[in-house]
Parts: sequence; C-alpha cells; structure tokens
Amino acid sequence: MKLESQCIHAGYEPKNGEPCALPIAQSTTFRYTSTAEVAKLFDLTEAGFFYTRLGNPTVDAVERKVAELEGGVGALATSSGQAATLTAILAICKAGDHIVASSSIYGGTFNLLGVTLRRFGIDVTFVDQNASSEELEKAFRPGTKCVFGETIANPALTVFDIERFAKLAHARKVPLIVDNTFATPYLCRPFEWGADIVVHSTTKYLDGHAVQVGGMIVDSGNFDWTSGNFPEFTEPDDSYHGTVYVRDFGKAAFIVKARVQIMRDLGCCQTAQGAFYVNLGIQTLPVRMERHCRNAEKVAAFLESHPKIEFVNYPGLASSPEHALAQKYLPKGVAGVISFSLKGGREAGARFIDSLKMITLEVHVADIRTCVLHPASSTHRQLTDEQLVDCGITPGMVRLSVGLEDPDDIIGDLEQAIAKA
Ligand SMILES: *Cc1c(COP(=O)(O)O)cnc(C)c1O
Repeated sequence: MKLESQCIHAGYEPKNGEPCALPIAQSTTFRYTSTAEVAKLFDLTEAGFFYTRLGNPTVDAVERKVAELEGGVGALATSSGQAATLTAILAICKAGDHIVASSSIYGGTFNLLGVTLRRFGIDVTFVDQNASSEELEKAFRPGTKCVFGETIANPALTVFDIERFAKLAHARKVPLIVDNTFATPYLCRPFEWGADIVVHSTTKYLDGHAVQVGGMIVDSGNFDWTSGNFPEFTEPDDSYHGTVYVRDFGKAAFIVKARVQIMRDLGCCQTAQGAFYVNLGIQTLPVRMERHCRNAEKVAAFLESHPKIEFVNYPGLASSPEHALAQKYLPKGVAGVISFSLKGGREAGARFIDSLKMITLEVHVADIRTCVLHPASSTHRQLTDEQLVDCGITPGMVRLSVGLEDPDDIIGDLEQAIAKA
C-alpha cells in the first residue's frame, strides 16, 4: 500500500462482522484461562496483551500504523512527545553516557537533555548543525551513545541534514535519533536517509486537531547493536529473567527493550482513548498536510512581500538559507509553521496579535486552526530584548501555525492586523 492508503488501513484489519472504526479497548487487563498461557506472555515467547501499560489492542493498532508509515520494524506509543524522547534515550543511555544533539531543537527537548538528563548523569554536547564535519567530530567522546536532531526544528524551522548526521553517527557506531514531529512521514521518512530511530510528538500534525497529547517511538531495525558499544543489548537483562534483546528479538531489539524495560519501569504509556484520537487524525494526515503546506506557502509569500514585515523564516521560501536542504528532504512541502518579525518591536508584535479576528492566540502549533504566539509577550516575556536576540528571537517575532481555513481568510486577517500593528 502507498502511504495514503496505509494512513487509513494499516494496523487494524477487522474480520467479518467486526467494527470498521478502530475499537477502543477501554480495559487495563486481559483475561486468560491458564497460567501456562500467561507465563508465555511474560516470557515474551508469545505475543499478547496482559496489562495496558505494556500493550493494549487499540494502542497496538496505532503503533503498527505509524511503524508502517515510517518504514520501521516496530513502534511504541507514549503519553507525550517528551515521554517518547525520554523513553528512547533511556533505552540506550545510562549514567556516564553522552549524547551529541543539535542545538536547533524543540525547547522542551533542549531542557530534557541539558537539565534533567544531566541530573541523571547523562551528559550532552549541543552542536551547531551547520558546523563543519571537523567541528562536529570534536563533540564526540568515547562514551557517546547517540546523536539527536529534528527534521524541521520547532520553532527555529531549520532543516536537519539527516544523511550527513547518520554518516557521522555510524562512523562512531552510534545510532541517530530524529524527531520527525513537524515533517510527519508524509513529508519525510528519516529512515530512508539513514536515521535509526524516529520519535514523534503525535500531539502535533499526526493528531492534527489539538485534542490529544501523545508521542511515538519508531525503530528502523537497521542499527547494529553488537559493536560492543551497547552491552545492554547483547548481555542478559537480569531484570527480565535473562532476556538478551539482540539474540531474542533481532531487528526489533531496541523497540522491545524500550517497551519491556523502560515503559515497564517508567510507565509513560498512551491510553486506548488517546490512541483512538491519534488514529482518527492519522487517517486524514496526507490530505491535511498537503493543504497545510499549500496554505503556508501562500501566507509566507504574502508576508515576504509586505513592507511592514522585517523578515520571514520559512524553509519553503527560495530566500531561506534552509531552502536547499528543504528541497532535498522535504520535496512535497515544509509543513505549516512560519515565523516572521514585525517592524516596531515588542509593542507592534503585541498589537498585531491583539488585532487578529479569526486567527487565535494559542500555545500550540500544527493543528487545523491557524494560530499565533508572540514569544516576547508570552513564553519569553521574562527576557530583555538583548536576551531575546541571544535565543534567536526578535522582540517583534511571531510564530504562526497556518491551519486549514481558506488561505484568503488567513491572509485577510493577517493583513488587517498588520495594518493596526
Ligand atoms: C511539541 C513537541 C515535542 C514535545 O511533545 P509533547 O507532546 O508536547 O510532549 C517534541 N518535539 C517537537 C518537535 C515538538 O514540536
């Protein structure tokens, strides 16, 4: 099946007389008639559900769907995008290990790696993703266990050179993890460029309607864990009666370990109801992404030509420094998020937002509604103008997530609000 068909049919195949829509298995537990059957489930010698933290039929269907969309061997749904990144990293790294990450990533991930994981004893080196290969080489250490970047960074809107970083990581025999949230598998499939693991915040375009927080980890099955760098994959896991992940699960070693060890212990799982909503969103993903891209292209062109706009940051614009990478990795479009700066600083930015009529002010992106955020008066309001600039944000900067309304209505609303700014 092609991706459009997989979005609808993958993961769940109803038999005769069963519901066409994915049923919600609203149950924590699953019934068995013999201890022998339950023992096989616990031994992982037979697949089946026994407790929803480790697996649930509704969640499983969505995991299978996203694994197919990304071209992976398996997936694990999590309670949020943050939980996906945390779970993926903890399946690989322990105290004393080290991560090389692009500095151009989501703020929540930047904090997770730079603050919380450091408190756990896992160190990180942030790198400029445009640095020379010699510079990037210097970031690696003997204890480096993975490399991390974001296909289209939120909110910097830089495009990650997946192929280049995959080669760099593989030369050191470590996996590349790519956060593919903004691109979704409709616009980019990182495994085709050498990434080993993909994480998602399904909260964004995969759900697409702003109804359900969630995350997903997908395993390409391609990474070789047997180099000696990853003994936890090749030696018995005493906490799971001697399972040896690579020996027992082959290509699915990573995603099984993430589930039976890290999800078992941390418990940040998706619910059946939550998975149902994510699935409902994914069914229309290709249609929505197509329109998000086309609408955003029109809006970006309008903003770029407006005399009151200082600059527009959208990798789809020919003027963008990211344009060449966007053409390579995102030929179908670069999703719906744009940032731009109004002349007139903080006050102009705030007046513009307060003058909008249809477009809503939300701390969210990547859903059906066009929405805006003015970092200088909200998420970054404690910072001085100088500190803002250090974060790559100007006082008049606005983050705009272009939704699925008629583009003339979106542009019309922007135009009248810019006039009042
Ligand atoms: C939102 C987001 C996250 C975090 O996801 P949550 O579902 O909010 O926990 C991670 N990465 C990217 C790129 C995001 O946009």
